[in-house]
Amino acid sequence: MHLRQGTSFLYLSWRWIKYHLFNRSNGNKMRDWLQGVKCEYDIVVIGSGLAGLTAANTLAKIGHSVLLLEQHANYGGMATWFTRSGGHLFDISLHGFPIGMIKSCRKYWTQEIADSIVQLKHIRFDNPQFALETTFDINDFKNILKTRFQIPQETVDAFFSTVRAMNFYDDQAMTTRQLFEKFFPGRDDVVRLLMEPIAYANGSTLDDPAITYGIVFSNFMSKGVFTFKGGTDLLIKKMRQEAAKNGVTLKSNVCVEKILIEDRRVVGVRANGRDIKAKSVMSNANLKSTILHMIGPDHFSKEFYDEANAVRLNNSSCQVYIGIRRGEKIDHVGDLLFTSVLPNFNSTALCAASVTSRTFSVYYPDTRPGSDKYSIVSSTNANYSDWASLTPEQYEAEKKKLIDETVTALEKYLPGVTRKIDHLEASTPKTFEHYTMHMHGASFGTKFEGLKVSMELPKQIRGLFHAGSVGIIMSGWLGAVNYGVIVSNNVDKYVRENK
Ligand SMILES: Cc1cc2nc3c(=O)[nH]c(=O)nc-3n(C[C@H](O)[C@H](O)[C@H](O)COP(=O)(O)OP(=O)(O)OC[C@H]3O[C@@H](n4cnc5c(N)ncnc54)[C@H](O)[C@@H]3O)c2cc1C
Repeated sequence: MHLRQGTSFLYLSWRWIKYHLFNRSNGNKMRDWLQGVKCEYDIVVIGSGLAGLTAANTLAKIGHSVLLLEQHANYGGMATWFTRSGGHLFDISLHGFPIGMIKSCRKYWTQEIADSIVQLKHIRFDNPQFALETTFDINDFKNILKTRFQIPQETVDAFFSTVRAMNFYDDQAMTTRQLFEKFFPGRDDVVRLLMEPIAYANGSTLDDPAITYGIVFSNFMSKGVFTFKGGTDLLIKKMRQEAAKNGVTLKSNVCVEKILIEDRRVVGVRANGRDIKAKSVMSNANLKSTILHMIGPDHFSKEFYDEANAVRLNNSSCQVYIGIRRGEKIDHVGDLLFTSVLPNFNSTALCAASVTSRTFSVYYPDTRPGSDKYSIVSSTNANYSDWASLTPEQYEAEKKKLIDETVTALEKYLPGVTRKIDHLEASTPKTFEHYTMHMHGASFGTKFEGLKVSMELPKQIRGLFHAGSVGIIMSGWLGAVNYGVIVSNNVDKYVRENK
């Protein structure tokens, strides 16, 4: 074992091997999930998250042969859903995204997909500092800041101009905390209004670079929060069909164990025990899993490998899925409810095991036209370490506590809802880790420094690219789709030059 790997890598390697030997291989032995796959492609894409799917589709459309391999049975990665008896269907990450998704879906997918994107108009906040409803766009927010929070017009305008002008090439030293301190000193209530939704959207904290906040906040503020009418299941079905129509070979239940490299150049992948040649490989898997698990230290410079090893993962999540019995109705109480009982905004407390803040996403029947079902998904940011260290008994007990406390919290907004619920279930960071293989169940990829490592991968190994949640700004549905497109342009250039 290479000395540089250290104990954390040994530990992770063991978890990786155990996962594949005991959890994955039995099912895969039963059936050849790679049936029909050729022995060589221009590009292999690892993972069918929104970045992987979008990159595969873009590359196939311009004429490359593309194989997309997904380890899970479902495509979509974190953009996913599951069904339960009683007619329940739960979306995992369809809480909302910026309007930019319409343009990206029109340009890189289809007009039909773009046309199904609609605004969520009722966003509520309820915490000890304020309770209000907003359309979550620039005009409404400016108005709320002036009238409700009594912030002078010039300060509000200056703040919005500053965040709108922020871009990747700006000063990266200023933190979000410093940004808020500059415009709203001592106004913890204003910080909460501006920060809490973004902390849920991408796990960012007050100590992350201000540009990560500015870019994501401005994206939302442009026109508000949007969703996909028809649900995640329909979106992913349409994307899968479109990608297949454009020539992508899509295979699920296929886990890439290794990226094959010769002389610092990608030559293919080993997946479900079989080697498949490729001129280029684009990994949509977690950045650190790609580098530490699928490749390992021998193919990188020491500096780069150490830098990658040091990249911090973003936090994970817990969710509680609440199914309303068929035939029961609930009142319209808003689409997204940012709730908290914490006296002040606090990034650490937002992830703590003892939950004080929750976002309720309420799915009314019109989310899926033709359906008569209501469901509610409660999301909280969470630390992997709080859940990974529990014994099986403690784990089950903590999940039950999370569910019970969530239903109690929901009663405030929907009195009597408990009687109408006929399905309750919770997921934890371990659940996200299991289904997506993201290290530590990271919901939003890595902290900011991960973006540089992701972008520099092809300089280390020719033909190897990464696209997916990374660096805070490249996460969320919009960030993932757009990063998939950006990276696919680089893949295209490389493959053309090397064809
Ligand atoms: C609870 C929660 C709520 C969220 N809510 C929102 C929201 O409301 N709005 C929003 O915009 N974003 C939201 N997000 C974030 C958003 O879902 C993600 O940022 C985005 O979907 C990530 O896309 P991605 O392309 O980076 O890849 P991922 O979705 O992370 O997919 C990576 C894929 O790679 C596959 N994979 C990994 N390793 C291998 C391997 N070795 N072989 C084959 N396949 C592999 C995985 O199975 C997975 O399918 C939420 C996330 C979570 C967890």
